[in-house]
Amino acid sequence: MYIDVLCELSAKAIDNVFTYHVPKDLESGIKIGIRVSIPFGKMILEGFVVGINNDTTYDKSKIKDIINVLDKEPVLSDEMLILGKYLSDTLLCSKVSAYQVMLPKALKAKNGSDIKIKYNRYLRKIKSNEEIDEYIKGCKYEGQVNLLCKLKEEDILITKMSSTINTIIRHGLGEIVNIEEKRYHYSGLSNYQKVTLNNEQEQVANRIISSFDKSETFLLYGVTGSGKTEVYMHVIEEALKKGKEAIMLVPEISLTPQIVGKFISRFGDVISVLHSRLSDSERYDEYRKITEGKAKIVIGTRSAIFVPFKNLGVIIIDEEHTGSYKQENHPRYNAKSVAIWRSNYHKCPVVLGSATPSLESFARAGNKVYTLLTLTKRAGVSTLPNVKIIDMKEEAKKNNFLLSDLLKEKVKEKLILGEQIILLLNRRGYSNILTCRDCGNTLKCPNCDISFTYHKTSNNLKCHYCSLSRPLPSKCPNCGSTNIKDYGVGTEKLEEELNKLYDAKIVRMDIDTTRRKGEHEKIIDSFGNHEYDILIGTQMIAKGLDFPSVTLVGVISADSSLNIPDFRSSENTFQLLCQVSGRAGRSSIPGEVIIQTYNPNHYSIVLSKNHDYLSFYKEEMKMRKMLKYSPYYFMTLVEISSKDYELSFKEAGKISTYLKNNLDMESIILGPSMASMFKVNNIYHLEIIIKYRKDDNLKNALKYIDDIYKRNNKVSVEIDFDPLKI
Ligand code: ADP
Ligand code: ZN
Ligand code: ZN
Repeated sequence: MYIDVLCELSAKAIDNVFTYHVPKDLESGIKIGIRVSIPFGKMILEGFVVGINNDTTYDKSKIKDIINVLDKEPVLSDEMLILGKYLSDTLLCSKVSAYQVMLPKALKAKNGSDIKIKYNRYLRKIKSNEEIDEYIKGCKYEGQVNLLCKLKEEDILITKMSSTINTIIRHGLGEIVNIEEKRYHYSGLSNYQKVTLNNEQEQVANRIISSFDKSETFLLYGVTGSGKTEVYMHVIEEALKKGKEAIMLVPEISLTPQIVGKFISRFGDVISVLHSRLSDSERYDEYRKITEGKAKIVIGTRSAIFVPFKNLGVIIIDEEHTGSYKQENHPRYNAKSVAIWRSNYHKCPVVLGSATPSLESFARAGNKVYTLLTLTKRAGVSTLPNVKIIDMKEEAKKNNFLLSDLLKEKVKEKLILGEQIILLLNRRGYSNILTCRDCGNTLKCPNCDISFTYHKTSNNLKCHYCSLSRPLPSKCPNCGSTNIKDYGVGTEKLEEELNKLYDAKIVRMDIDTTRRKGEHEKIIDSFGNHEYDILIGTQMIAKGLDFPSVTLVGVISADSSLNIPDFRSSENTFQLLCQVSGRAGRSSIPGEVIIQTYNPNHYSIVLSKNHDYLSFYKEEMKMRKMLKYSPYYFMTLVEISSKDYELSFKEAGKISTYLKNNLDMESIILGPSMASMFKVNNIYHLEIIIKYRKDDNLKNALKYIDDIYKRNNKVSVEIDFDPLKI
């Protein structure tokens, strides 16, 4: 028996299929879709079996034997094998990279390293609390006392050994233990009660249920708080009753613990939760729950769209407008397209839900490609909040650069009433630009040519693109002056300012405060329990949270997303403002929203005031039509990058000429131009944008370019169909 084995050889992701011979004793275990180990030069590789033959046309004396069979059952199902081919055709990615992205690490064809369960070191007490107290009485060292007090309560995570820890061990009070990294522990919500759907919800749910057994894509457009989650759960419950399975995608799990909690309360342990912060072993455990048929519902982020359910009943994609459903690196798949592909394969509906659908999805609903379903009002007792727009140009005259008079006033009012407040500022750190007053020099990252952000807690300068950290210099590196001034405000500075103004308990949520696993949940839980009065955060606080006692939401600067040079910046601003104001007044107390901006007349800001999605859609579509952007035109981005400055321009020029000569006359080719992040991590980035309505030559032309540059070590070319950022 001879088999074709697909393996991943280099980072350039080329499909390599090699023929191997199978020794007689291994033949019975060979199936399409399992993994085998093979000799390759001096190495041992793993690969997927993609073909089985009785004979071969190659020189048999040169064909080697496989070493071993690694799986009893295929890790790649028939469906996954076909889906991989589809992804490879449409995204110009290799099949092997498509297969790898569908599998948890434990089941990838990996070369070399084995997955290890991650262990953490803890200090654990081996004496009783009384004995420890006895020791503390005679101990002079504060560090030891501190640690011992904590140790009485719980095991202490050790990142670095210290003399204090060693002393504690030497005195026989504690020992070091290795514990497998803690799982995320999800629990149900104690106060969750299944509701009876209202009329609108019931109609919507019944329409979806009537399409079970059909491939149909629904766009569920429902204002924030209209009860979309309840509709999802109802539909999933019906699918389960029919013996089917369901996938529910959310933008980011750690930001939506409340949704997961509701699902667990209602469905119990037939749920499997998959997301990027799981350790490899945790992910494998969750995955096995699915392959063993124990899980019927998967809630997860983007890659959960690939879970190997065999009898899918419905796929739901919540907050469908979010960028996180598109993978930004190779293979650049979009979970929405994969969902629609799987809906065709399984004959089941897909539901895309949002309060602010992406323009592409709403346009498709308008063209009847998707079926539009609408929820027009909030489901519970609450009403949409009252929104006020503040012109910061006027406030600046009064020296209010950060907080307007009205926002200051309202925060005070809510604190007195004992209500909660959320403040959004879409920039982390303390301040974002440091400039020398004497010579005008701006402190920039040497790798990226982008301004450093100052982080006051650590007194560090950080580059948010390559994560380089440097201590804040005491003098200007250019002229030696000490007169360095900071501009721009980040969340850290906002927190400091608020602490000066109010006697309130404040918690900040941004990347810097949520690096450790479980940190998001902790902040969300404690804010939910009203341990804090004010929650400050970047856009990660805008989504999905449901806190009944939040009655005021403030947006410190709506301009930070509006000023991003991207054709979607108005859409993103409108979405962000609607999402974040949807956090206010989710109970019987009405909510208030204050939006501060230097562009009070911009339509994305004005129309967000009344959550007027339909007017925004019309307005924005006019712009897109005029400027020939998506959804009127398809777009493809060709990114050229190299460490060599001259070479990047030279090759980009060649590619652009080739495209001009080979694409349809009607297609528009822009560039090459410098990418908005031109130099990142010492690599130069150029881009070519192709806009087209229909171009039969496009695929072949791009495939030709892709093939050439796969073999080029100095210049790399990435092709991104329907890119999210331009
Ligand atoms: P969305 O996902 O559309 O923002 P949710 O599903 O989170 O909305 O619902 C918002 C609030 O309304 C929740 O507190 C939910 O429990 C409540 N709710 C939803 N449907 C109903 C209903 N039919 N009757 C009463 N309350 C409801
Ligand atoms: Zn200077
Ligand atoms: Zn950098």
